[in-house]
Amino acid sequence: MKLSGRNILVVGLARTGLAAANFLVGKGARVSVTDLRTEDDLNDRIARLQGKVRLLLGRHREADFTGADLIVLSPGVPSGIPPLVQARERGIPVWSEIELACRFLKGTLIGVTGTNGKTTTTTLIGEMLAEGRRPHVVAGNIGVPLLEKLGEATEETVWVVELSSFQLETTRTLHCRVAIVLNVTPDHLDRHASFEDYWQAKRRILLNQEASDFAVFNRDEPNSRRMADGAEARPLFFSRLERCAGVFSRDGTIRIQVDGESHQVMERNQVRLKGEHNLENTLAAAAAGFLVGVEPEAIARACRRFAGVEHRLEWIRDLEGVSFYNDSKATNVESAAKAMEALEQPLVAIMGGTNKGSDFRVLRPLVKRKVRHLVLLGEARESLLEGLRGTAPVSEAGGFEEAVRQAFVEALPGDAVLLAPACASFDMFRNYEERGRVFKDLVSQLTGGE
Ligand code: ADP
Repeated sequence: MKLSGRNILVVGLARTGLAAANFLVGKGARVSVTDLRTEDDLNDRIARLQGKVRLLLGRHREADFTGADLIVLSPGVPSGIPPLVQARERGIPVWSEIELACRFLKGTLIGVTGTNGKTTTTTLIGEMLAEGRRPHVVAGNIGVPLLEKLGEATEETVWVVELSSFQLETTRTLHCRVAIVLNVTPDHLDRHASFEDYWQAKRRILLNQEASDFAVFNRDEPNSRRMADGAEARPLFFSRLERCAGVFSRDGTIRIQVDGESHQVMERNQVRLKGEHNLENTLAAAAAGFLVGVEPEAIARACRRFAGVEHRLEWIRDLEGVSFYNDSKATNVESAAKAMEALEQPLVAIMGGTNKGSDFRVLRPLVKRKVRHLVLLGEARESLLEGLRGTAPVSEAGGFEEAVRQAFVEALPGDAVLLAPACASFDMFRNYEERGRVFKDLVSQLTGGE
């Protein structure tokens, strides 16, 4: 579609919406931007768009949607809101920012999706490309809109793009040279009609792939594995349990086996990231790196060096023999479980926040086995209490300061205090990053002797 002169509505004015609006203005489109927030809330963003776009703030008017030639949707906006439904019924195309970017993207695209591990894997692939001295851009759901980076790319650029199910839902022309599906477990069921619906959204990462492309699945996780059925691209796998066509860990060694080629990449215990889940991320990343031509030695160097991403099993400090870890990004049951599994010490776990309709009972065996004491807080406190009753001693905290103090009091030397909320953060914070930072500040302020 030619953009110049077209009437285009950007919905949602966060960083992505801003990038989209600027990009579209650059292409000569007539751009309007709508957001439920008002001009006062959006002040700094609006300043950057001043005069270049029409601002429709404070509410969504149906006429603004149905009058557009094209709608570009920010990732935070649910695709089922009524004015969008109306627009779609009238045949108006609705694109995600990713879709818009894909139509202009040059270079090679690696797409990463999954319920958990996307950001870690995406970042690690970026590190591998850096070690291999390949020009690359890391973008997408990781917090960097593709449209912000389009200008920097050439035919040589490798794009490493984290893709959420919401972004994939509105994608048509996405074409990944390498598509990675880490795992698909129940999450975001508040925004998808069913698990199958969520799985189908994730499967869209395979769109437009051809026989010469690659799709990489998790052999150890059934919902990822079954996606290989019917894939157009060459399916490869990663496994931390068994030999497979792709990348696997066996007898303490990470190996790549693709076609006739076989490489011993490194010893598994040289991988700096902790935990079995991070081994999965590492294997997936190695597959992607290898498939776009990074040498196994460069892959190994990146894995030895990479210490992980902030708020993911992030070590904060040791105090009086107690280690403190921040996994504020564990916003669902599955990821909280992985964090608990990954630490070897007995745990004092801080959990709670906004409940996304999760069933906390699945954590019972793990909590029973690993957790010495549970500190619960936030809106989901009652459901957590209900779901985990009888598994470990519990205390409830009115706020984060109290939670940190209680956790430290309960911990014995040799324990780890772990923030793994298994919940979203919106009841108390703007996002998980803010929650993690508050936690880290509070932990840093602890003085001991308590
Ligand atoms: P995402 O971008 O998919 O949310 P992250 O890399 O940010 O993934 O990690 C999110 C949370 O999920 C972290 O708290 C981490 O402990 C957990 N996690 C990371 N990788 C995996 C994985 N492969 N399987 C399950 N949980 C994981």
